[in-house]
Parts: sequence; structure tokens; C-alpha cells
Amino acid sequence: MAQSYLFHGPDGVGKRAAALVLAQALLCEKKGRSGEGLACGRCLPCTKAQRGLHPDIHVYVPYPKDASIEDVTERIQILFENPYRLVDFKRRPSLDDAGKTSSKQVIYNVERIAEIMKDLHFVPVEGSYSVGILVDADRMNAPTANKFLKMLEEPPERTIIILTAERSDQMLPTILSRCQHIRFDPLSAADIEQTLVEREQVQPERASFVARMADGSFTNALELLANEELASRRELAFEFIRQSFSKNPDRVMPFVERISKLGREPVKQLLGLMLSWVRDLVLYEAAGEAASLVNVDKTEAIRKFVAGLGDARLDLMVGFIEEATRLVEGNCHVALTLLVLADALADAMRGHNRANLFEPLDSPVMAIA
Ligand SMILES: [Zn+2]
Repeated sequence: MAQSYLFHGPDGVGKRAAALVLAQALLCEKKGRSGEGLACGRCLPCTKAQRGLHPDIHVYVPYPKDASIEDVTERIQILFENPYRLVDFKRRPSLDDAGKTSSKQVIYNVERIAEIMKDLHFVPVEGSYSVGILVDADRMNAPTANKFLKMLEEPPERTIIILTAERSDQMLPTILSRCQHIRFDPLSAADIEQTLVEREQVQPERASFVARMADGSFTNALELLANEELASRRELAFEFIRQSFSKNPDRVMPFVERISKLGREPVKQLLGLMLSWVRDLVLYEAAGEAASLVNVDKTEAIRKFVAGLGDARLDLMVGFIEEATRLVEGNCHVALTLLVLADALADAMRGHNRANLFEPLDSPVMAIA
């Protein structure tokens, strides 16, 4: 074993996954018994390592100055669960929404690197090694890198340091020369496709399409999937509102069934998407073409809605959707909540006034809900 490694290559091709596997192999009780030096995957240190609970594995990510400890901890936990998921603060400023880029500086600063170096001087708690994984180690400015260099020059005993970096060309030559380099290449579309099918239960046809779009990065593939899902849920949210207007159970029920089958969290997301639609309607009604819409690609549908339903009580619609969200969070029956919501939305779209979601219904329904 070398004491310091640099895993370098494009994003999303397995550098973090390999770092975690190496750390686990170093701490496995039965290492090497398989004859390949791999972790057994079953002993206590292995299970702890897999769940991110091993006290001798330290994972660090760069983050912006104002990030909360909870946010950082949650990202590192996600990284343990699936090291290919996008947890980078730069490419995903908030865990709740993807597809944006942060304008904030996301780096290891000098104070942070000092804390990390202190961490790595701890003697191993349970295993024979302490492993420090610094994700995106290319995001150090010169003072930070110079400080960190001391650690690589005189590494603590029984500590293995793994750096991962996309742009190793931007790192200090003195740091580069202290590490053993391992290069990671883009993945083949065939490998991405196969893994999507086997590990993420994606339909083969869709997996093939996404894999070809992913540009050799499994992280990109996961992001494409998530955004595709988001796009189809957004359509579903709009369609639910549209069909609600009919007050026709034959048209509303299929949507209620389809949505409630998704599970409670996705339903909450869907209700959030409904809110973004109605907010766009409010904005469009007030400002017309000048409105800065969230669903800007759907301006035509929004224009038609506002033109066709001049009497709609958009303010009530917002309130009903918010009320339904609270009910779903509060463990109410999801399908029933959606059904009642559809009815309330229909009334509001027709300009009828009612105080809350359940107003026209008898109390037994409340009891079931
Ligand atoms: Zn093991």
C-alpha cells in the first residue's frame, strides 16, 4: 500500500465508489481471504463501512461558507449509500432541486483543511488503518494546498489518504508528486445501460437511451433519470388539475390511482409541482407575457388556462393544495385526499367559494381521513 493516492478522471465514473471500496477492504476483518484482497462484505467492519458508520473512514467534501452541518452530513450519507449520486454543492446547490449551478465558491479553505488534518492524526479507533477520503481535492486554493502538502510529506502512521479529483492538472505539482496516481476513464454506454437495468431497475429501452446520453458518466445517467422523472411528474401534476375541472369521476379516478400508487414522498413532490403550476397561473394573470414563470416552457398552456377560466379562484387553489400537502404529511389516506382535492380544485376553477378542502363533505369522510 502507498500512503497517499490520487484517483483522477471525469465526474461520475467511479472514483468515489473505488475509494470507499478500498477503505472497506483495508478495514475488513477477513480481507484477502477471497484471494483477491477484496472486502468480504459481511463482517461487522464491512457493514459499518457500507453504511457510513465506520469510525476509521473519514469522508470530506468541499462546501460553501454558509452550508449547514446538516446539509453536509446528509450529502456524505448519500455518498455512502450511492457514491454515484450527485452531492456536489457546485452542481447541486440544494439537495431538493437539481439542474442548477451554484455561483458560490465551493472549496476547501485553510481553516477547513486544518480541521481535516487534525482529524487524520487520530489513531485508528477500531481497525488497523484510518482512511481519509478527500472528494474533489482539486478544489483547494494555493494556501490550502500548501498547508495540506505537509500532511502528505509527513503522513501520520497507519493513515491512508485518498484524494479524488477531476482536474488534477489544476493541482500543485508538489501534491501530485506525493501521491500514487490511478486514472479513471469514462464508462462505456453498455456498462451504464446494464447497471441501470440491474441496479436501478430501469426499463431496458429507457436505460439504453439514458446510457447513450450520459457521456460516460453514471452520475449523469442518474441525473438524466431523475430529471426525466421530474418532467413526467410535472406533466402529471398539470394533467391532474386539468382533469379535476371535469368533476367527472371516470376522468379523475385514473389520475388519483396513478398518483397515489407513487408513494407518499413522490405525492408530496407532485403537490409541490401543482403549486408551482398554480403560482404560474397567478403570475401570468397579473403580469401576462412579462411574468417570470417557473414552467416557462409551458407558457402556452398557462395562457390558455388563464384565458379560459377567468373566474377561477387561484388563491383558493393554492390554499387547497397546501392543505392537501399537510394531510399527506400527516398520514392521511392519500387517494382520498387527492379525490377531495380534485373536487375542491374544480369548485375553485369554476369560481365557487369554499373555505376548506372538506367543507361540502360529511363528517364520516373526515373520520376515515
Ligand atoms: Zn469484511
